[in-house]
Amino acid sequence: ADDSSAPCAPTPGALADGTAVPLLANLGDATDAAAAVALGAEGVGLLRTEFLYLDSQAAPSVSEQTDRYAEAFRPFAGRRVLVRVLDAGADKQLAFLGHVHEENPALGRRGLRALREHESVLRDQLRALVAARELTGVELGVMAPMVADADETAYFVELARSLGVGSVGITVEVPSSAVLADQLAPLVDFMSIGTNDLTQYTLAADRMLGSVAAFQDPWHPAVLRLARLVGDAGRAAGVPVGVCGEAAGDPLLAVVLLGLGATELSMSPALLGEVRAELLRHTLAEARELAALALAQRSAADARAVVTKAARTHR
Ligand code: PEP
Ligand code: MG
Repeated sequence: ADDSSAPCAPTPGALADGTAVPLLANLGDATDAAAAVALGAEGVGLLRTEFLYLDSQAAPSVSEQTDRYAEAFRPFAGRRVLVRVLDAGADKQLAFLGHVHEENPALGRRGLRALREHESVLRDQLRALVAARELTGVELGVMAPMVADADETAYFVELARSLGVGSVGITVEVPSSAVLADQLAPLVDFMSIGTNDLTQYTLAADRMLGSVAAFQDPWHPAVLRLARLVGDAGRAAGVPVGVCGEAAGDPLLAVVLLGLGATELSMSPALLGEVRAELLRHTLAEARELAALALAQRSAADARAVVTKAARTHR
């Protein structure tokens, strides 16, 4: 029967040699979940959960959180959904985490650092995520933001597992955690490189500050060298390495990151199609060649230019 009117489901992400590369969505709340599926998201690689807390004077209850997470999860039943626990502090201050003025909030008590001091908030969030998983049948993974070392990693992994989370990971966005990736990888079920903060902290350039915006470029070889450490550590430990920063949505940089050892990519759903098309132009061996070229450059601009030129010779 001619079924040409049915919407054509996008194919799963893959490189030209058939290497599968899960293409996942970054979501900021529940409203864009169904749209992400329609655009071919194979799962969620980063659900930012700040949306639930920003308007609250008190922390939302477990049941309120459960309902909201279930709403975001439902279109992804049977698929992987990686949720990042509350990343407050820095530009997102919350009264119930004990808002204190900090001169340099990006270098302050943000992310896991703040949650660790208010563990009941973290425990409630983890309980709600597990409850929402039970309601919807997603394959839940939970990761912590702003993890700096093995002590913080072990703390989060133990707490999340004790509350029933089966797959626990970390966001690698503080340079120390990339440097220490070989210590951290054996402790977790997955890692996800947050290139936005990793770039800001590596180049010591505030990502909110226009005057240093030129430094906020994840093509920088320093950032790529850190990503390589994470890729190598993931491979050695048999742990998947995602990228959830904006770099994953830059088609050629996505290929470079795969060449550095990333195994899955998560991005704004609108970018999935372009990245999917680019991956089909390069084999994994070619991605590794492009990555080696980028690592050897002197600047982000040089890395982008050299890779763009070399990639033209691929299919
Ligand atoms: C990142 O830092 O790259 C990231 C994905 O998180 P956010 O942009 O929310 O800080
Ligand atoms: Mg971040």
